[in-house]
Amino acid sequence: MSLRLCILGSGSRGNAAIVRTDRACLLIDAGLGIRALKSRLAARDMALDDVDALIVTHTHGDHLRSSAITACTNHRILMYNHAANEAVIAARYPRFRELAERRLNATFDCAPLAIDDIAVRAVPVPHDADGATVALIIERRDGEERQRIAFATDLGRVPNELLDVFADSDVLVLEFNHDVDMLRNSKRTAYLKARVNGTSGHLSNAQAVAALRTLIARSRRPPLAVVPAHLSRECNTPRLVGGLVNDVLRKHGAHKTRVVMTSQDRPTEWLDIRAMRGQPSLF
Ligand SMILES: [Zn+2]
Ligand SMILES: [Zn+2]
Repeated sequence: MSLRLCILGSGSRGNAAIVRTDRACLLIDAGLGIRALKSRLAARDMALDDVDALIVTHTHGDHLRSSAITACTNHRILMYNHAANEAVIAARYPRFRELAERRLNATFDCAPLAIDDIAVRAVPVPHDADGATVALIIERRDGEERQRIAFATDLGRVPNELLDVFADSDVLVLEFNHDVDMLRNSKRTAYLKARVNGTSGHLSNAQAVAALRTLIARSRRPPLAVVPAHLSRECNTPRLVGGLVNDVLRKHGAHKTRVVMTSQDRPTEWLDIRAMRGQPSLF
């Protein structure tokens, strides 16, 4: 039995990821258009009917599309929002009403949430969305064995508490949004540059590198995989981020840690925690 992750798409034009075991399947954010969502699920042998629940990290449009709410209604997917976001979503998305009428909406706060054999814990992070923005710790326990994914894609800075709870994760999904110099030299407006670079905007490569260093130092063992996410198309490149992450891993002797780059346009491969540990996956 294994916890598996696939990032279906990542970036300012739409975000979605799948986390599954053989008993439960969660969609984390639904900011891709419905056609892209379906085709990327199909590319990984999945369909919307396989999804049990949608967990929405925050209220920005690149993480929740109106069409996704209709998809939840049609495919009976339970949609979980942070309690602070339910009113924002109800006001902003007219299609939420039908979902709520069918009792397919639920809320979470900082208490752990259990969806069959997957436990999800939300940690608030600073970001400029209306309502709350959360990072997630997604875990599956099997007796003594624990499989854990740490997931943080939209945050202006990394709170110390987040580093504490993210330590010792098997897979680390972390925002590497922009290179500060590329952002400064970009054609973006001064307002947008200040927003992205502010403490409630997005993580720069330098911030993410500092967080990764601290996390590895606080962990008993390095993660099996680092998954850089939400890369800016204009102000970053996968090659730059890959180089930075590999540098940190090399300096910490984490030679076995894989770096799995996300893309706006393509799903990643399945990251299977048991298989990455070298154990047989019983899927
Ligand atoms: Zn975003
Ligand atoms: Zn956002």
